[in-house]
Amino acid sequence: MITCGNAWSEETPEPVEKTAPAAVSGPVVAENSRLAGDAKRTRFVVDVDRDVAFGVFTLAEPYRVVIDLPETDFRFAKGQGNSGRGLVNAYRYGLIGPGKSRIVLDTGGPVKIDKAFVVDAVDDQPVRLVVDLLSTSRQEFMAALAVQPTRQPAPRQAPAISGHEAVRPGAGRDGREIVVVIDPGHGGIDPGAKSRKGTLEKDVVLAFAKRLRTALSTSGRFDVRMTREDDQFIPLGERVNFAREEKASLLISVHADSVRAGSVSGATVYTLSERASDGVAAALAEQENRSDVIAGVDLSGESDAVADILIDLVQRETKNYAVFFARTLVSELKRNTGVVRNPHRSAGFKVLKAHDVPSVLLELGYLTNPSDEMHLIDAEWQETVADTVAKAVSEYFGERHARAPF
Ligand SMILES: [Zn+2]
Repeated sequence: MITCGNAWSEETPEPVEKTAPAAVSGPVVAENSRLAGDAKRTRFVVDVDRDVAFGVFTLAEPYRVVIDLPETDFRFAKGQGNSGRGLVNAYRYGLIGPGKSRIVLDTGGPVKIDKAFVVDAVDDQPVRLVVDLLSTSRQEFMAALAVQPTRQPAPRQAPAISGHEAVRPGAGRDGREIVVVIDPGHGGIDPGAKSRKGTLEKDVVLAFAKRLRTALSTSGRFDVRMTREDDQFIPLGERVNFAREEKASLLISVHADSVRAGSVSGATVYTLSERASDGVAAALAEQENRSDVIAGVDLSGESDAVADILIDLVQRETKNYAVFFARTLVSELKRNTGVVRNPHRSAGFKVLKAHDVPSVLLELGYLTNPSDEMHLIDAEWQETVADTVAKAVSEYFGERHARAPF
């Protein structure tokens, strides 16, 4: 049990003028957290090593409370946050950007932030950050949401459509290096899948992505960019925008997820489609698309960029190139490493939605499968697969003079 009955002992202080937090260098250290209360009123407390400036706001669909903090070193006991109490079902925490950390509380229903304050250290008690939540109606929740100050940058506007064509495999013909974006999935507050032994998807895919970068760079043909190079959360839309801004000719999003059946093993290559190719693909896309929800990203203002018929046409062409690359990749993987049955599948993955960048999502294997896990964390295996993927990329771009793919 992660909760502790004495959280209510935190006295609500008289409102006093706060002096600026003392300048202590390095990340804030959060040693412990706890919940108290019931389904009407719940208190969340975090022990921190100094006075902190923080922001608290709510999000709907699903109901969440987000606490934004400066960069914080969370030293909570293992499993803390996996279960809840009162109005809070569970909570997550981690880095969401340079110098920024976040705690996201999943609430079972609509809540109101009653109070949020920092209590000074007293005697043997450390500085505490306290957030009090009250149960409320959906109507009140939505009304509060409307007047809530925006705590995070508004989602970027849908890009202006210039009618330019999908980037063909032949891009880079003019002697420029071909830009390939590698997107290590998850990161920071979103750990992705977790094996029974505790291996995290976000760590595995970052290590693999770095090896793939090395493998691609050695050919001298590719200019490789990564959406993240450390343990940092990046919203799905930003990953897509990054590939577009870099004018990438290919995006490879790398994952190593979990599936319900622990016996499923081997690599899978996914491309975008409105209708999922099968149930596993649909479930996986749903799981992947939850990344933003996990990190408390406000999705309410997000517009659907895929409305214009022009985008539709460009996207169809982009998709064809993505499918062509996926097939190339699958045949290379088949030769060099294990693949699942039907290794090329499709579903509505948000991260694959750049309308002018051919994009694939590579599931290296499943962390839920013990033999896959053994491979996934093995440096030699990673290197072999990175070389295999690099070979497929070279082959894909090498086809450019031979024939158009479709
Ligand atoms: Zn994933």
